[in-house]
Amino acid sequence: MWLPKKPFCLDGTNSYFIQYIAYFARLGENNNLDIMRNSYKVISFDMNGTLTQDHFVELVWGYGIPRLFADACNMPLDDARTHVFREYDKVGEDRIEWYDVKYWFRTLGLGSGWRTMLESFQHAASPFPDAKHVLGLLHKNYDLVVTSNAPTEFIQIELGAGSLERYFKAVFSCTSDFGEVKKTPEVYRRVCDALGVAPEEVVHVGDHPRFDYDAPRSLGIRSYHLDRKSVQRGDEVVHNLLEFYDRLHS
Ligand SMILES: [Mg+2]
Repeated sequence: MWLPKKPFCLDGTNSYFIQYIAYFARLGENNNLDIMRNSYKVISFDMNGTLTQDHFVELVWGYGIPRLFADACNMPLDDARTHVFREYDKVGEDRIEWYDVKYWFRTLGLGSGWRTMLESFQHAASPFPDAKHVLGLLHKNYDLVVTSNAPTEFIQIELGAGSLERYFKAVFSCTSDFGEVKKTPEVYRRVCDALGVAPEEVVHVGDHPRFDYDAPRSLGIRSYHLDRKSVQRGDEVVHNLLEFYDRLHS
């Protein structure tokens, strides 16, 4: 892959930015040629940590729900947060209820305004800077889908915040659509079945080594682990979505 190795000076000006502009231009120019090199039909993206940052999810569970509970019970926010987190722990992430915001509104007596609460934090659902650019390139030649364990209601808000929804042919939530709490090989098989494609025709990229790499790979899906912290190295490890794009066409 080509990426600027070091900043260099041009007429006394740091041109690192210029190199990145050139990189983006090169991606656009070569897009149609690169596409001839593989036979993949579908590219599947994880959502949180891959396309969008985690602030939205953290705000909903760590502030939004405790804040409403504090107001409902007329108690300090810290006390409400302690109570709510204890309730989260009682359920645990292996149960489907953990992911269901409607369940928590019911259980904690917060009324029916869960959608209003989610929408109030939409401003925090920001995509990573490389997501929109790479989706814009890839959607011309592939069917793009989201395969996430986030509930559908969360995915809709997050895609809407970044105006990303127009790039996707389909969105799959393993919790909302398949009743699974994690992205198992069976979830990926059902995604392939729904799309009418073989696993070998699909590429998946995501930031969880087990659920975004091991699970789809075990089914025969070409998989890439997105390690945005740049700790891991390997042929199927990428550190941003620009690198994923390049690796896909190399
Ligand atoms: Mg993720």
